[in-house]
Amino acid sequence: MKTHILFILSILLALPAAAQNKRVYLNPGHGSWGPDDRPLPTIPYPMLSTTGRPDTCGFYESNTNLWKALECGVRLKKNGHFTVKFSRVKNGPYPYRKGASNEFRYNRSLSEISAEVDTWGADMFLSIHSNAASEGSLINYPLFLYRGYDSQESAAGSKAMAQAIWPRLTEAMHAGFEVMTYYKTSTNIRGDIDFYHSSWTNDRGITGYLGVLHHLTPGFLSEGYFHTYQPARHRALNQDWCRQEGIRYYRGIIDYFGVNDEKLGCIMGQLHDRIQKSSSLEYFNACPDTPDEYMPANGVLVRLKNSDGEVVSTYVTDQNYNGIFVFNDLEPGRYFIEMKADGYVTRKGRVNSTTVKADATAYKTIEMFRGNSTPFDDEVGIEIPASTPREESSDAVYDLSGRRLPDGPLPRGIYIRNGKRVIIE
Ligand SMILES: [Zn+2]
Repeated sequence: MKTHILFILSILLALPAAAQNKRVYLNPGHGSWGPDDRPLPTIPYPMLSTTGRPDTCGFYESNTNLWKALECGVRLKKNGHFTVKFSRVKNGPYPYRKGASNEFRYNRSLSEISAEVDTWGADMFLSIHSNAASEGSLINYPLFLYRGYDSQESAAGSKAMAQAIWPRLTEAMHAGFEVMTYYKTSTNIRGDIDFYHSSWTNDRGITGYLGVLHHLTPGFLSEGYFHTYQPARHRALNQDWCRQEGIRYYRGIIDYFGVNDEKLGCIMGQLHDRIQKSSSLEYFNACPDTPDEYMPANGVLVRLKNSDGEVVSTYVTDQNYNGIFVFNDLEPGRYFIEMKADGYVTRKGRVNSTTVKADATAYKTIEMFRGNSTPFDDEVGIEIPASTPREESSDAVYDLSGRRLPDGPLPRGIYIRNGKRVIIE
């Protein structure tokens, strides 16, 4: 019996600390589509006269925080070394009504959340937010706040977590993909008591400033970027852009716990007009000498090709003035990015060469040239499907998928008759 226990013990001791299950509590900030959700106008979603807030598809920090946290949490669960708890997984209710009994269903009280973090027995806490300065200001950088003083953290391990995650969260900014106006060569990791010059003590005797950090679990609150920097706010309307931030938190967390075994990578790009400036746009005050000064390209069909020239994925940029496209979970290697949109010269073939590395996102800022759009190479000429029975009556008409059409007049369209393309105008 004794040897048996010793044997098990020796196995347990041989396992690296990282292999043990870690409990991560994720708090996507805010959560009701109400005035506490930092609603702000964007071009497609201005403030409505009825509510003074945008449509729920517009910018609410609560939407964006949730997308980031969900992506981070889903990947942590998939990694296999983590148990994850979210303070909420939804937004709402809709419509928001002040004083309604369900007003705080998802926008939960911070004291309730902070108590739950400890009760659940979290090993790490992360609260996900974005920051605000005065509306339209040209400021954009992250801020991490842990409970305590700059020189002394209150929950041991908080600073080390923040320091591990900072380089991953700032990857997009350091790549020049997003504007970073300060802290390019340093970090912005602060104790909340020093940052706000204030503190208070809760009913559990825990002292700090931010309500959501009033627990004993190490971790921090992240203000990932400034949503008052208007071009960034338009990017945040794109869920995939937000989810990329979630992936960067995920990378930092698996780095910190020593369980990074990522074998796939991502591409995130943004498309801008080469000439036309964005200065005519409303709610779009852009930093000078950055890509944000140029008109983002909406509705562009983007095709990702592998090194063999095969199309592996497609993406259409949204209508929200960000030009963002994202391809996730790609095998490392060389890829090409084709683009086509009305009013722009089509880019096709072995263009925009991009190298994907494991555990990384390749960031691409691409200029679009005004001109005539042309089809992609494989759209020129129409292949007749092999299944088309060519020996049938020469009058037989097929659609482009090779399906025989009934005899009679044809509506406008492109057909195949006798092995040739027929256009009915
Ligand atoms: Zn916030």
